[in-house]
Amino acid sequence: MQFHISGYSTGDPLEQPAAGYGVDRPEELPDTMDVLVVGCGPAGSIAAAQLSQFPNVNTRLIDQRPHRLELANADGVHSRTMETFQAFGFAHEIFAEAHEITDMAFWVPDPQNPENIMREVSTAELGPEYSEWPMMLITQVRIIDHFNRFMRNSPTRMKPDYGWEFVDLEVAPESAKEEYPVTVTLRRNGGPEDGKERQVKAKYVVGADGAKSKVRKSLGYRLRGNQANHAWGVMDVFADTDFPDVRKKCTIKGHSGRSILLIPREGGFLVRYYVDLGEVAEDDNHAVRETPLQTVIDTANEIMHPYSIDVKNVVWNTIYEVGHRVSDHFDDRDSTYTDGDHPRVFIAGDACHTHSAKAGQGMNVSMQDGFNLGWKLGHVVSGNSPDELLRTYAEERKDIAHRLIEFDKEWSTLMATPADQLPDPQTVRRFYNKTAEFNAGYLTEYEPSMLTTSDEHQGLATGYPLGRRFRSEMCGRVCDLVHTHIGHEHTADGRYRIYVFADAEMPGESERLNAWADWAHEHLDSSLFDVKVIFQQHYRAFDMRHVHPAFKPRVGDFQLLNMENAWGTLEDVDIFETRGISRDGAVVVVRPDQYVAGIFPLDQTDELAEFLGRTFNDVKAKASAVKA
Ligand SMILES: Cc1cc2nc3c(=O)[nH]c(=O)nc-3n(C[C@H](O)[C@H](O)[C@H](O)COP(=O)(O)OP(=O)(O)OC[C@H]3O[C@@H](n4cnc5c(N)ncnc54)[C@H](O)[C@@H]3O)c2cc1C
Repeated sequence: MQFHISGYSTGDPLEQPAAGYGVDRPEELPDTMDVLVVGCGPAGSIAAAQLSQFPNVNTRLIDQRPHRLELANADGVHSRTMETFQAFGFAHEIFAEAHEITDMAFWVPDPQNPENIMREVSTAELGPEYSEWPMMLITQVRIIDHFNRFMRNSPTRMKPDYGWEFVDLEVAPESAKEEYPVTVTLRRNGGPEDGKERQVKAKYVVGADGAKSKVRKSLGYRLRGNQANHAWGVMDVFADTDFPDVRKKCTIKGHSGRSILLIPREGGFLVRYYVDLGEVAEDDNHAVRETPLQTVIDTANEIMHPYSIDVKNVVWNTIYEVGHRVSDHFDDRDSTYTDGDHPRVFIAGDACHTHSAKAGQGMNVSMQDGFNLGWKLGHVVSGNSPDELLRTYAEERKDIAHRLIEFDKEWSTLMATPADQLPDPQTVRRFYNKTAEFNAGYLTEYEPSMLTTSDEHQGLATGYPLGRRFRSEMCGRVCDLVHTHIGHEHTADGRYRIYVFADAEMPGESERLNAWADWAHEHLDSSLFDVKVIFQQHYRAFDMRHVHPAFKPRVGDFQLLNMENAWGTLEDVDIFETRGISRDGAVVVVRPDQYVAGIFPLDQTDELAEFLGRTFNDVKAKASAVKA
């Protein structure tokens, strides 16, 4: 972690110096703002946290709740999400606090005595060959707390504005060329002005306001899909039990076909039970929500027979009704209420896709929506990128949502099918294993677009599939000889990472690498691009004198050399081997949200400039200046 960049400052190094809107940030919600994010759930919090790193973007995050979330909802953190938390600087804290999951146990009716359940198998979760982070279980509340701290420490000193309910919005016609085209009606929720309405204006609005999203409704969009809901009795409890796997994640299928998803939680004693209450009839009118807690506890005991739970304390419980649905659209370009070619209003998270609790995807996928959108808005509002960039949000995330719903439908159906109606008893476990990579979030793959190149040069770095998340690896840092994960240097500061894998020449002696570095020195602004070089040689075989200045950018008020961008290989880990990097070298470009955007040969800087110029006005301008 780098700090004291412009001189020594005492205090918490996580607190970045205030800049831009953060210098004099008004306490009260202003009348105009660049971006209004509606909803402090996982989707809205991560989008706002990412935007908080852009000092000149005035972002406000509102929630109808009058205060911070205290109890609730999701608790499954997939390892891909842990990688994301690493970028926001709090993965280690979540790791220390949360409950780690190494296995999933499958309990089924005992064929000899179907009234009783038996452990069919306990199967390992994805191991370190997929990610350095495991799956963790912890309340959503703590995750949102961490994002809030990140925002507070950011240059913009952001924090949520609680007690503001979004009511409606209107977007001015594009032809009016208004600076703040979106007019939003808000209502005060709580406090002395409770119920009072007010209008504010924004350049962009992000609707991360959950499954019943009013932002979505204000665009005239609906969630489409299976209209039937499935109901779950959810309870966070402290209970005595003789069930041996109570500290493992389990699916427990009772002989009635009903099931439990058991989630051991942070702290060693708390446990969440998702008790299947079955499909909800269309004319149910939410009557299922009246199911008494005792019925949920009794059903759990019935499913777990011959084991039992004796509930001592209920921390939180709810009846969670959910269906598999996706919104018509993810931004306002198709809304009949707006007319622009460029999106001004976006929806993210549960506002645009809902799925069952069984796969534990909601919070994870919602955060990836927010991460995807946050940096794009940041760069467009800052003037670094063209408006077109904002179209890619809907294009990329809608496809992911559809794939997720298909997966979720299959998984939920299998979970709900009585054991004697399955092709064989291992069907559920086999499906779980087969889809584990998808479920963990690793199979998200963005198609070629202005942001992702074709696979023409994929052969240069076969371990970095284009469009998929960048997989970290251990390397040796040259300046201080520390072994570190190279991907952990990728903080959520909105910058692209450019990993330059050198050819086989000794450091400092490669003409191709030097030519690349000369080009980068001229064309790549270090406020947009963090350029790192990885040599094939052992990290102790050379030193910083052999590293081109392009990899030692000057930073801060004193314009000191940043020495931490050069790496070599380790005795036991050669990233060129483990990630299939060509010995002729390769340039791997990674987006701010950690997805591999492009792979280029070392000597094709024109191609790289053309690619980056699609997203960054500055690179385009420099490339055209050179041609002229
Ligand atoms: C009981 C339950 C259990 C769940 N378990 C899991 C799980 O184990 N794993 C998992 O991944 N997912 C789980 N989910 C789903 C998960 O909680 C959601 O998918 C996730 O929270 C979605 O995040 P979000 O930010 O899109 O929306 P939300 O978390 O719903 O956040 C929306 C926010 O918007 C605010 N808001 C709503 N309307 C307005 C308005 N008009 N104006 C201003 N603010 C507004 C709300 O107060 C809320 O803070 C569960 C959900 C529930 C209800």
